[in-house]
Amino acid sequence: MGGLVEKKGVNLFTSFAGASLIEEGPGIAGVITEDKGVDKNGKPKDNFTPGYELRAKVTVLAEGPRGSLTKNLVSRFKLDGLNPQAYGIGIKELWDVPAGRIETGFVGHTLGWPLDSSMYGGGWIYGLQQNRVSLGMVVALEYHNPLFDPHEAFQKYKTHPHIRRIIEGGKLIRYGAKTVPYGGWYSMPRPYLDGGLIIGDSGSLLNSQRLKGIHTGIKSGMLAAETIYEALCAGDTSAARLSNYSAKLEASWIKKELWAVRNFHQAFAHGLWSGLVHSAAQFVTGGRGFVDPMRAKPGYQEYSKLNRDGGLVDQSTRFKGDGALTFDRLTDVYHSGTRHEEDQPCHLVVTEPNICVDRCVREYGNPCQYFCPAAVYEMGMEKGAPRLKINFSNCVHCKTCDVADPYQVIEWKVPEGGGGPNYEGM
Ligand SMILES: Cc1cc2nc3c(=O)[nH]c(=O)nc-3n(C[C@H](O)[C@H](O)[C@H](O)COP(=O)(O)OP(=O)(O)OC[C@H]3O[C@@H](n4cnc5c(N)ncnc54)[C@H](O)[C@@H]3O)c2cc1C
Ligand code: SF4
Repeated sequence: MGGLVEKKGVNLFTSFAGASLIEEGPGIAGVITEDKGVDKNGKPKDNFTPGYELRAKVTVLAEGPRGSLTKNLVSRFKLDGLNPQAYGIGIKELWDVPAGRIETGFVGHTLGWPLDSSMYGGGWIYGLQQNRVSLGMVVALEYHNPLFDPHEAFQKYKTHPHIRRIIEGGKLIRYGAKTVPYGGWYSMPRPYLDGGLIIGDSGSLLNSQRLKGIHTGIKSGMLAAETIYEALCAGDTSAARLSNYSAKLEASWIKKELWAVRNFHQAFAHGLWSGLVHSAAQFVTGGRGFVDPMRAKPGYQEYSKLNRDGGLVDQSTRFKGDGALTFDRLTDVYHSGTRHEEDQPCHLVVTEPNICVDRCVREYGNPCQYFCPAAVYEMGMEKGAPRLKINFSNCVHCKTCDVADPYQVIEWKVPEGGGGPNYEGM
């Protein structure tokens, strides 16, 4: 799509990360990109280039789920929706399999296994062209066991006889992981403010029942473009004018589609069985179900469901995989094509590191070591004292740690632009 818009004369500047927003008056006036060429101690290197201040009459936030700028913007300007955003973690692999194992166009969805019935999640397997298979699993980040490892659950998923039969003898090609915003229509932040609009996953426009958000992302971008064009012609980019974007969303098929599943994810807040009953009622009533809106308790966050079940666990006993059908996290990270400049400040900022070693280890057993699908966090001993090591260069930018850390002391910041996973073809 980038190539297509460039042909139309639009300038695209890739490999720049938005590090902060320019806040002015009651809204925003642009974005400041990250400083490039900073070493791991925060000192400028020979190639140091300060971030650019990019001013615009309207800035569109399209950072996907849990955007670092969007998160702060929603909180600063109190743009929250009716419900807090809810997230799942999606883990995916691409395989090349022997001919004849799966038809091109095959679509299979599964619910549950290997997750227990207190959890919400499921998997998929799609037959792509030329004997390529996409398979993966999504798990809601509101589980109870702090030592639950979503990556391991996905590896186990591949050992199910139906899936094993398809991929055994094949070859792992690619790997990726990312959060999905499950909250739907009732978690949508107010998507406009003075000089700014929010689109796509950042605006909670994913259909969580179908796990599809590309079509709504594209359509919301088109509606945002129309709104901006009209606002620029009228010489007015205030919140009042840009609220037309909300009206356009309401009048579009996006509303119709998301309204029918507006309570879908909330239905599973108490596990699989009650979720199936609620979602059946919603299906019959066009999304209303037994309770509409199904609201989360005030202040509810996924991590509040974690059991306090801590202690140091010997990490050498962690899942390693058989190297053929199942893999450890580092092998998978290798297949994500992730690359970061090593000599740069760590983009995973732990704002209160003492909590990790004084409280988290005791209370939760450091769940970051488990929910991270890229083996970034390692709790170890250094000079007789526990210490959290952060292998930031493995990070696949899924944002799970920013969501699931029970103390909310992990802040995902943008690394130097251009770094991260390479999801081309995923
Ligand atoms: C495992 C999985 C499977 C899925 N399967 C499907 C499917 O089959 N069909 C479907 O329709 N949808 C699917 N989805 C959902 C779909 O991927 C998303 O809804 C869609 O990609 C949202 O598009 P977006 O442009 O809003 O966000 P994204 O696609 O996430 O794009 C946001 C981009 O912004 C970049 N970014 C973030 N912050 C910054 C910053 N501060 N500065 C610069 N760049 C930044 C990110 O790196 C990213 O490239 C799936 C999601 C997952 C996780
Ligand atoms: S460090 Fe955080 S964002 Fe990066 S891969 Fe791990 S959980 Fe995902």
